[in-house]
Amino acid sequence: MAKEVTCPPCGETVRAENDEDLVRKVQQHAKDEHGTDLSAEHILASARAV
Ligand SMILES: [Zn+2]
Repeated sequence: MAKEVTCPPCGETVRAENDEDLVRKVQQHAKDEHGTDLSAEHILASARAV
């Protein structure tokens, strides 16, 4: 099942087909766009199944 996370600072939605991809994409986004490191736990806690 796909999951998505909406990035609070910019409102961009990141979607992936599995947890591993989601964490990787969101961490990359947070790092590149906001200079922030997010934990996998934080990302998965705020993910929604879509
Ligand atoms: Zn963002």
